[in-house]
Amino acid sequence: MSQDRHGERQQRLKQKVDERIEAAQLERGIVIVYTGNGKGKTTAAFGTVCRAIGHGKKAAVVQFIKGNWDNGERNILEPLGVPFHVMATGFTWETQNKQTDTQACLETWHNALQLLQDPQYDLVALDELTYMVSYHYLPISDVINALTLRPENQSVIITGRACHRELLDFADTVTEMRPVKHAFDAGIKAQKGIDW
Ligand code: ATP
Ligand code: MG
Repeated sequence: MSQDRHGERQQRLKQKVDERIEAAQLERGIVIVYTGNGKGKTTAAFGTVCRAIGHGKKAAVVQFIKGNWDNGERNILEPLGVPFHVMATGFTWETQNKQTDTQACLETWHNALQLLQDPQYDLVALDELTYMVSYHYLPISDVINALTLRPENQSVIITGRACHRELLDFADTVTEMRPVKHAFDAGIKAQKGIDW
């Protein structure tokens, strides 16, 4: 391509981008969903938490996970003033104790609700929340209500596979991680500092 044509094309592209920047005038918090079967959902959520606190904003994390293993992100973020609430029920899902799991989920959800009502928090990350809905521990309507009523400037990130359709519809930004390949499938063990 000649230099002239390249220049013209770049100019048209710039014009389009400038028009879209000009058109985007709303200022409010957003709901982001990171879903899909590929690796990167939780790391993307924590990347955004780091970004927010790096700008002096206030962020909090709620993790709907069963394990109580050493958590690299928590080790660095909690001392920096990012509160963490971790469900950490142990591996009760394997024992299929629906009643205790539901109770643990609802207790952790109660912590999430307090954050979702607190205008001090610019960003709330709800890691692995999608499973609480798909396992029927938590009604989707409760999640949608809490997101609807949250402070206007608060953003929320939700991660996990198989996100409920209503939540996908409600969210402002949805990214689906697609597993092109994963080291685990080649027999490589999960690694501290890479996978948790
Ligand atoms: P990460 O925490 O690395 O960002 P994730 O949040 O996208 O991953 P989860 O489904 O929450 O993915 O996975 C939890 C664990 O399983 C992580 O240790 C992650 O590295 C690993 N994992 C993610 N995707 C896959 C996959 N396609 N196959 C095997 N293991 C995976
Ligand atoms: Mg995850």
